[in-house]
Amino acid sequence: MRRLLAALALSTALAGTAGATAIYPLDRATILAGSPFDLKVEFDKEVQPQDVSITINGQPVEQVLGKKPDFIAKEEGVNASAVLLRAAAFPKPGTYKVEAKAGGETKTVTWDVYATAATPKAKNVIFFLGDGLSVAHRTGARLMSKGMTEGKANGRLNIDDFERMAFIGTSSTNAIATDSANTMSAYMTGHKTAVNALGVYADRTKSTLDDPKVETIAEAIRRTSKKSVGIVTGAEVEDATPAAVVAHTRARADKAEIVGMMFDVKPDVVLGGGSAYFLPKATPGSKRKDDKDYIQLFKDAGYTLATDKTELAAAAGTNTGKILGLFHPGNMDVTLDREFLKKGTVEKFPNQPGLVEMTKVALNQLAKNPEGFFLMVEGASIDKMSHPMDWERALFETIEFDQAVGIGVEFLKAHPDTLIVVTGDHTHGISIIGTIDDSKPGPDMRDKVGVYADAGFPNYEDKNGDGFPDRVDVSRRLAVFASNFPDYYETWGPKMDGPFDPAVQNEKKQYVANEAYKNVPGATFREGNLPRSADTAVHAVDDVVLQATGAGADGFKGYMEESDVYRVLVDVMALAPAKN
Ligand SMILES: [Zn+2]
Repeated sequence: MRRLLAALALSTALAGTAGATAIYPLDRATILAGSPFDLKVEFDKEVQPQDVSITINGQPVEQVLGKKPDFIAKEEGVNASAVLLRAAAFPKPGTYKVEAKAGGETKTVTWDVYATAATPKAKNVIFFLGDGLSVAHRTGARLMSKGMTEGKANGRLNIDDFERMAFIGTSSTNAIATDSANTMSAYMTGHKTAVNALGVYADRTKSTLDDPKVETIAEAIRRTSKKSVGIVTGAEVEDATPAAVVAHTRARADKAEIVGMMFDVKPDVVLGGGSAYFLPKATPGSKRKDDKDYIQLFKDAGYTLATDKTELAAAAGTNTGKILGLFHPGNMDVTLDREFLKKGTVEKFPNQPGLVEMTKVALNQLAKNPEGFFLMVEGASIDKMSHPMDWERALFETIEFDQAVGIGVEFLKAHPDTLIVVTGDHTHGISIIGTIDDSKPGPDMRDKVGVYADAGFPNYEDKNGDGFPDRVDVSRRLAVFASNFPDYYETWGPKMDGPFDPAVQNEKKQYVANEAYKNVPGATFREGNLPRSADTAVHAVDDVVLQATGAGADGFKGYMEESDVYRVLVDVMALAPAKN
């Protein structure tokens, strides 16, 4: 008898070791009422379907969600079972407790399903995303663009007059650190996810395209309203930030697939770079591995195509309603190269529009819809120039971004039923610590760094009043440094020959200082503080500052997660109106 009891206890214990390792959406997920999402439960071993029970608030899952999940006996490459229910939705708001049981073990997550305001607070939403936008970028842009006298700024940036502010947490589900995919995805879906993921929770299987999906803001707008959707960026339009508006993949590198996802959603205006992923593989310069011609497909779907500034202006006048503007095969050139130095790839693509022109065209086009619109404008190269610590280019990008915000502010004045949000997706370890003054004595450039009272004020000038300093290579310029870096040569000044490339790979696949800068007068070797796998400075974990103005801007305050920002956006547009 005693032996039998012992055996029973043992078998229970064994059964008890089977359990769910993950439930997606994750615990504490916030979900828009009516919004489709994929429910997935992953078990730690192969289990029998009869041993599995999944309940929501104590009811069988199929009863609550209206359909039966698929049981996957053995997931590919994992040797364990899973349960998957695609496109589930909760029509009613409330707290939902999900319990997954296999054998003896139970895993529980709780979701908060929310409705929105019953009526919209704003008809239009303009979401300005400064990629990597940190506090020092704002300060540097103000100092460079407006100047300073006796400690007071000589002028204000457009963002300086936004009345609402919040600190935003940018961390991902698998790390405190973060990239532009998971961060923008959290803003654009209301769900945090893993580094590199867009519009999905990152599951354990190898495929990047099968992960449990959540709805993107563009899909939510398409499902619930007749609003238009617009995307404007200086990066490739299939790059992480613009992709997050529409895409579902575990890997932001799935750029060819992301173009297909963009075509599925068909934003009314798409402006940026990245044409290489739209062209069939036979076309020279194509980065696709198939024969799909997305330029033709978009044209067939009624889009006017623009490939440079002139064509963009013409497309803006055609009144067809939909514009696809692809101005570069890759990322577009930055303002300092486009408008001032003519470096980078500007010789090859001399007629690229800037963010200000693109924003103007997008707003004019989208405003024709009486139902309103959602427009995302990305200042992409604030980040792309902060990685290589090319501070002059990064700060010029910030000034340009602020000028694009100014176009939004003008629009708001004429259309008060508009919300404008300006934020970054993550920060960089950038700080301004004073000035670098070439007139200081000595051969060592570090002796020319002015700190505290010795910093004085930089001597940039903007005689033509375009908001940009007429020259960047002035004799007393901002001293900007990164908190983190690979091995590199610090040149203590602007890179006049094209964007900075601080580190290059050696035979051992480690990044070492780029010797091309060794002989720049005054260049100093700096030994990196990052792993040798890092080719540039990396993102910081520091909070982002969000600012907002216009209708519904009071929803932003205090500390918020990026996923909370989505809740304000959909609330302002009343995408899931609460019923009384
Ligand atoms: Zn970045």
